[in-house]
Amino acid sequence: MAAVTLSGVRKVYQGGVEAVRGVSFDVADGQFCVLVGPSGCGKSTLLRMVAGLETISDGTVRIGDRVVNDIEPAERDIAMVFQNYALYPHMSVYDNMAYGLRNRGTPKAEIEARVREAARILAIEPYLDRRPRALSGGQRQRVAMGRAIVRKPQVFLFDEPLSNLDAKLRVQMRVEIKRLQRALGVTSIYVTHDQIEAMTLSDLLVVMNAGHVEQIGTPIELYRRPRTRFVAGFLGSPAMNFVPGRLGQPGELVIGGRTLPWDVARGATCPGSAVEVGIRPENLRVAAPGSEQILMEVEFVEELGATQLIHGRVGEAALAVQVPTGIAPEAGMLGLTVDPGSTHLFDPANGLRLDL
Ligand code: ADP
Repeated sequence: MAAVTLSGVRKVYQGGVEAVRGVSFDVADGQFCVLVGPSGCGKSTLLRMVAGLETISDGTVRIGDRVVNDIEPAERDIAMVFQNYALYPHMSVYDNMAYGLRNRGTPKAEIEARVREAARILAIEPYLDRRPRALSGGQRQRVAMGRAIVRKPQVFLFDEPLSNLDAKLRVQMRVEIKRLQRALGVTSIYVTHDQIEAMTLSDLLVVMNAGHVEQIGTPIELYRRPRTRFVAGFLGSPAMNFVPGRLGQPGELVIGGRTLPWDVARGATCPGSAVEVGIRPENLRVAAPGSEQILMEVEFVEELGATQLIHGRVGEAALAVQVPTGIAPEAGMLGLTVDPGSTHLFDPANGLRLDL
């Protein structure tokens, strides 16, 4: 196993598209790193450069202590799991898993042992003689995982491996991938656009936007202290609310004409400045009469089972509030309170967190 180190990595495609704009970070030995971001942000390009499937325009990629920029994919000691599984349709499951090892001249008994062990771990032993077309999507994904495991690589690379599965199977496979990665301890880099997958799988979360890294850290660090409005809005479900506000006198924050207490120790101190206030739906409460801090005009309510999501407006801004079932009114004005410690303030001009 090995660490992966990216230093100033850039990718400019033919035609001048700069897909990756100088990305640097380290994935420690055994760590599970997830690259997340919206479609087109450059995450697959970055993964493919680590894999050796794309040339690197600038910067270096190291696996262990080796710079691999000019090393062929097959020589990088990585194994990749793709979204479309990339299985050979004319080969049995066994042969699909054994193929890479045979190409490397691994002894037959060793191949047999590794394939059987991987099949056991992944619970696909009963299907070893089948062709991929006789398997369900989830079983095919397991075979693709098995093919990666038997290689015993230094690094696993996953490119949206769960995207073709239905919602329930995705959750199940997500748990299996996490369990497997923990058990094997193989350094992993995983690409997804799904923030829940990213939050749940990663030890190290890298949020990308338009070819650059917005923020790197543990999932909970990014959730609690997003550095930018982009990260704040991208992570968390239901998503964070953003309402325009203004700093009042020291210790005051004004939203929708009402003044809330604000913890002055948290940096932003210039009275009168416009701010963008981020509040997660779960950090808003229905106010006791007389203690309202924010007044919301209720539009509709979504039932989520254990909780309800009340949607409404504060002035022009949309707001969602997550409350226990049975609280939500269907219409009218609703008074809310917010814990000042749970708000996030961003500079409307550049989207940066004010109390960095
Ligand atoms: P993501 O995986 O985050 O969806 P990609 O890495 O696939 O994003 O793409 C990043 C950007 O690079 C996009 O603007 C995409 O259109 C562009 N791109 C990807 N592949 C190529 C290519 N082979 N040639 C030119 N542009 C490409």
